[in-house]
Amino acid sequence: MGLIPDEVIDEVLARTDIVELISPRVPLRRSGANFKALCPFHREKTPSFMVSPSKQIWHCFGCGMGGGVVNFLMKYENLEFPEAVRMLAQKVGVRIPETREISPGAKSKRKSLYEINELAAKYFQKNLEDPKEGRPAREYLKQRAIEDETCRRFRLGYAPHRWDGFFNYAKREGISCDFLVQAGLILPGKEGNYYDRFRNKLIFPICDFQGRVIGFGSRVLDQTLPKYINSPETDIFRKGRNLYGLNLAREYARDRTYVIVLEGYMDCITLYQNGFKSVVASLGTALTADHVRLLKRFTNTVCMVYDSDQAGEAASLRGLDLVVAEDLRCKIVTLPSGFDPDDYLRRKGRESFQDQLDRALDLFDYKLNLLTSKYDSSKVEDIAKITAEMLATIARMTNAVLRSGYIKELSKRLAVDVEALLIELRRLKDRGATYYQPEIKESPSPMRSEEKTLIRLMLEDKDVGLKVKDSLEVEDFRDSRAKRIVQALFKSISEQKSIDPAHLMSHMDGDEISQMISGLLVGPDELMNRKKVADDCIERIREANLKHRRLALQRKIRLAEAAGDDAQRMELLAEFQKLIGGSKEKL
Ligand SMILES: [Zn+2]
Repeated sequence: MGLIPDEVIDEVLARTDIVELISPRVPLRRSGANFKALCPFHREKTPSFMVSPSKQIWHCFGCGMGGGVVNFLMKYENLEFPEAVRMLAQKVGVRIPETREISPGAKSKRKSLYEINELAAKYFQKNLEDPKEGRPAREYLKQRAIEDETCRRFRLGYAPHRWDGFFNYAKREGISCDFLVQAGLILPGKEGNYYDRFRNKLIFPICDFQGRVIGFGSRVLDQTLPKYINSPETDIFRKGRNLYGLNLAREYARDRTYVIVLEGYMDCITLYQNGFKSVVASLGTALTADHVRLLKRFTNTVCMVYDSDQAGEAASLRGLDLVVAEDLRCKIVTLPSGFDPDDYLRRKGRESFQDQLDRALDLFDYKLNLLTSKYDSSKVEDIAKITAEMLATIARMTNAVLRSGYIKELSKRLAVDVEALLIELRRLKDRGATYYQPEIKESPSPMRSEEKTLIRLMLEDKDVGLKVKDSLEVEDFRDSRAKRIVQALFKSISEQKSIDPAHLMSHMDGDEISQMISGLLVGPDELMNRKKVADDCIERIREANLKHRRLALQRKIRLAEAAGDDAQRMELLAEFQKLIGGSKEKL
């Protein structure tokens, strides 16, 4: 997708009103200068979701989410930033120029691949519905108790028992053989001829999460092998990046608060038909990091359903550490021996399946149960093995509070000291640079109240912004989020642009930033005497930083003394003198 120029984004923002955008989706009630509502992003009984029309931002004091119009649309409709901007642009009548495409050829090909896939999906669907042509596939579906409505939802189709059915159809539509081969729908034969990839197969169109057909899965109607044939990977179809059914599941993921992940198409369809609509299938691959990031856009809990053959594999569980590393909760359902999800539903019914879901275990418990049954936890060597496997998972967790909770739990269950576990965890982190990924997201530390107040004042009052810019450096702010906001504010000030929170939020990546800005601006009472408050904050930040630097230097000096490094000590002392001298001048 081309980049959307900044001016266009600003134009879209200028023409959009936050109350108009939110109120059809979330009923708003006026409350003073603001509007209030029950938050659409977390369950609550009393409204803590606030919308400020004057500042064009929203913030929930219950779950801490917040931002401007774009963030709202992204969260509410599960969109990426450019998609949300495009949607708004269309609504307010701003045209988005298609600019700066990286390679123009690539784009038109993409469009053609989507078009060809859509054409093929329609062709297969039509064949399934055809009374004569589609009969074998319809009989198979009937046998599997798949209802017509479900077939339509998943756009199931049938590729007839012919070598050139689709090929001739596509040729009549004027599509070149090259494109058809690239789309993976036909194959070149030996004598310069072409033939259909899918013949006499039940067809499962595979969509991206936006519902565009990107490829196909297919299944034989009898017992011949191979049972399943899929489209090859193309420019728009990557198995490791797409999940079957997500285009439908996304509508339900928010309400259900979880997404069920299975392996097969048919299982996915059966679950959906039985009311378990928040369900997707990995396309015959293990879950990848891309899959997990995709799921993260729609849910915070991934629920894996295993049949009992797969369940015993600690190795396959290692893949689930990916889920944990992305800060998602991972739950596991194991079906009794001899059942796959499809049989289970058919033979035991929905209530029983729901019961299985309700009894799903957290990855931690599941893995620990599995390991303690596999190893002998009365032997020290075995305990070491269990510990190593468990710590590998815990090390992946980005949330320090969760990590510490699990360490305590592990210590209790294995009767191993917390201290010992922490030492092992640290060793794992130091050693396993390839396995343990360092925390990409810093866990949000409580920000100094002075930093918060100053940012709020800078956002509200340009004069305060100028003053702060004259008195402090970006580096004087300790919190990394604060640093980023201040840097952006300083930039606006030096470019003599006005400071507009909505603009700022739409130009800075990261929910945390938007949440922080909206939280600072919505709700808190008007500050009196802004200049005085700003002066006090600047002063306190300077003093605190000075003290911090002084202590750090003193520590270094002591170390140099202890090491007998005189040259180093003299250098540091000089620096220390300068620091104190400097501070006197300033004070
Ligand atoms: Zn909320």
